[in-house]
Amino acid sequence: MIEVRDLYKSFNGRDYVLKDINIRVNPGEFVVVLGPSGAGKSTLLRCLNYLSPPTAGEILIHGERCHGQRKAARRALRKRIAMVFQHHNLIGRLSVIKNVLVGRMAGIPLWSCLLQVFRRHDVDIALAAIDEVGMAEKAYARADSLSGGEQQRVGIARALAQQPDLILADEPVASLDPKNSRETLAYLRSVCQKKRIAVLCNLHQIDYAMEYATRIIGLSGGSIVFDGPPEKMNVSVIESIYPGIEDDNV
Ligand code: ADP
Ligand code: MG
Repeated sequence: MIEVRDLYKSFNGRDYVLKDINIRVNPGEFVVVLGPSGAGKSTLLRCLNYLSPPTAGEILIHGERCHGQRKAARRALRKRIAMVFQHHNLIGRLSVIKNVLVGRMAGIPLWSCLLQVFRRHDVDIALAAIDEVGMAEKAYARADSLSGGEQQRVGIARALAQQPDLILADEPVASLDPKNSRETLAYLRSVCQKKRIAVLCNLHQIDYAMEYATRIIGLSGGSIVFDGPPEKMNVSVIESIYPGIEDDNV
């Protein structure tokens, strides 16, 4: 249902940071994009929601070409694709619920966002999203009073409140300890599977990818070098994603 066709990205017009990327993701799939630092993982996610426009290629949602340079097209795309960031990007002095309501504003121009009074309908969706990530008791707490793991779960709730087709998560657990990392990935996977939301989640840790992904896309030097279920990952696949892994002990 979400398809990336022949995507290329160059920042300088000569060297390609992403080459010949073709991906098809179905609802409810939890796809981990695995690769070393500099492989192009962040650039790929930024291209998909046009934070950084692709140099070439197409993005289709439900078979519909859903992007372009025009503002309206980009807005439509961003309504259907939600982001979860490494540093959750919450507004610390606002409550959890207000931060999550920002997810309901996706794709709406800032000026109308500022004028908008939150409707009961939006508040109900935001509260349900907060409940999905186990944060119902802290819905009215200030975001900066929460632990790192709780803040990241609120980041996920904000993405869910957008009711997207696809969630892009760029190293969502990079700043968390192992216990909170596992909890966060488990919530992200289970809620999205339940709601049939597709997830593309960048990670650089092989063990988390093996544990949580329903499918792994290995990215190395800007190209896809592996695309398959975790069960198909073996030493030679890992070596192709992380060239020289044995020397570097990555
Ligand atoms: P990853 O997220 O896998 O660590 P990135 O997507 O951040 O990799 O980077 C891939 C490559 O693209 C790197 O060589 C990086 O230097 C380059 N790159 C990323 N963003 C920019 C930019 N805004 N301008 C120029 N080069 C960039
Ligand atoms: Mg990155």
